[in-house]
Amino acid sequence: MNLNEFIRDIPDFPEQGIVFKDITPLMGNPVALQAVQEGLLDLLQGLKIDKVVGMESRGFFLGPALAMHLNAGFVPLRKPGKLPHTTLKQAYGLEYGKDVLEMHTDAIEKGERVLIHDDVLATGGTAEAACKLVEQAGGVVVQCNFLIELDFLKGRERISAYSVQSLLHY
Ligand code: 5GP
Repeated sequence: MNLNEFIRDIPDFPEQGIVFKDITPLMGNPVALQAVQEGLLDLLQGLKIDKVVGMESRGFFLGPALAMHLNAGFVPLRKPGKLPHTTLKQAYGLEYGKDVLEMHTDAIEKGERVLIHDDVLATGGTAEAACKLVEQAGGVVVQCNFLIELDFLKGRERISAYSVQSLLHY
């Protein structure tokens, strides 16, 4: 199955000059969705994972499903002010703007093995912030795993200290 057929380019979203990869057609197709989940799990090659960390908001699409298959917990990283308990914070720059990610202080225990998951790796700013949050909590980043990697933005170089795996490359 060619998963690329289920990913749609949206020009000038969310800003002029950005070509946004829209994954909602893929999410809406049961066969493609199953193939994506299996593909992302295959990238892990049996590595043991305690927690899957997913970034707001499209990291929430598949992160919990991956966690359930791995017998791991799921940890949401959210935009400022959205998490109710005390948080660790990390500022970052991205392809279109700047932001802060937060994680609950008790979300990850020292030494836990963590899979970072998001839909798209673009410049790598979001993933780098996620790795720093996990490490602030004492967790170990085992892999950063993405549905799509935009190779031309070289995000992988920004997180070169970690194992980076992506299902689809553009
Ligand atoms: P980065 O921090 O790597 O520059 O950007 C990655 C973040 O922005 C991810 O959380 C991802 O969801 C979002 N993102 C950036 N570009 C795209 C895109 O073309 N399509 C989608 N679906 N998300 C994108």
